[in-house]
Amino acid sequence: MDQTLSANPTHRALELAEKSLSGEELSRADAADILAWPDEHILTLMQAAFKVRHHYFGKRVRLNYLVNIQSGICAEDCGYCSQSSVSDVPVEKYKLMTPEEVENAAEKAVANKAARLCMVASMRGPSDKDVGAVAEAVRRVKDRFPELELCACLGMLKDGQAATLNEAGVDAYNHNLNTSERHYGEVCSTHGFSDRLDTVRKVREAGLSSCSGALFGMGETREDIVDVAFRLRELGVDSIPVNFLIPFKGTPLGDKEELTPVYCLKILALFRLANPAAELRIAGGRELHLRSLQPLGLYAANSIFVGDYLTSEGQPGLQDREMIRDMGFEIVGDDQSEPASVPLADRVSLSTREVRAAK
Ligand code: SF4
Repeated sequence: MDQTLSANPTHRALELAEKSLSGEELSRADAADILAWPDEHILTLMQAAFKVRHHYFGKRVRLNYLVNIQSGICAEDCGYCSQSSVSDVPVEKYKLMTPEEVENAAEKAVANKAARLCMVASMRGPSDKDVGAVAEAVRRVKDRFPELELCACLGMLKDGQAATLNEAGVDAYNHNLNTSERHYGEVCSTHGFSDRLDTVRKVREAGLSSCSGALFGMGETREDIVDVAFRLRELGVDSIPVNFLIPFKGTPLGDKEELTPVYCLKILALFRLANPAAELRIAGGRELHLRSLQPLGLYAANSIFVGDYLTSEGQPGLQDREMIRDMGFEIVGDDQSEPASVPLADRVSLSTREVRAAK
């Protein structure tokens, strides 16, 4: 640990923020300090992350809405995934949604004030027919909701498929690295880290905005966390979703329980300081792992998902929007059509014996 950190965390935090803002890359020693930050000084670290976040994004928070456009039928064996071939989780199974169904999901995204709809399909990678079907859905949604950004997440792409999606109106493509190159083989055996890199590169070459992030709580070391943060920096991705493992019983990683809320904050601060200008999104596992510290996560991240995750429930969208407004942040594209918060009187419920008995 750097001596300044143990002697004066406030000074060290400021130093890291200034380094990040100046465009200088964080070193491995800097990253190690962030992950080893004393818990009781977490606010100094989040203040440094906020300085950088505020420089690039002000008080803005972007909302994203997920739709699982093909569910539960993937041949891959990713150990964290409830939809893999080695998962016993009783998830819904269905093939690619029709364009009408995707359009319905877009309606829900708009109702939830999301700036982006993320269309995720459980598959190793799409056939050209799948890409054609997604392209048709995208054209329909864009006709109706031209302002809504569309992101596709269809697994590993073959040559030419990213260009087809781009021509149809897809704005971004998500393909997460998930963990470090070293650790990758421990969470998946049916494809490798280099396959993941290859798709991220194809996405960028086709001119799509690249979205690629990571997943923590899978037995990775601090070194692995730093590796994946720095790899995403090297790739220059535009958007970084940070997931925290939802340990589904029935998956190979279903018994992992390694994260604490404050450690999740340190990971978010590392990703912000290492990737200052990237959209940083708190993704799956936000409610489960950050718990009561969720609002603090927004001092590093400028983006979250609203609604449900792929196979698990998120907290109600109104609660997310209230959290953002309560912090004095602004939702991107908010048309102010709903009150900033639920009236206090509507929150009051009686706790008399009679009411309890009637329940
Ligand atoms: S490729 Fe995607 S859908 Fe398939 S098992 Fe891995 S994470 Fe799950």
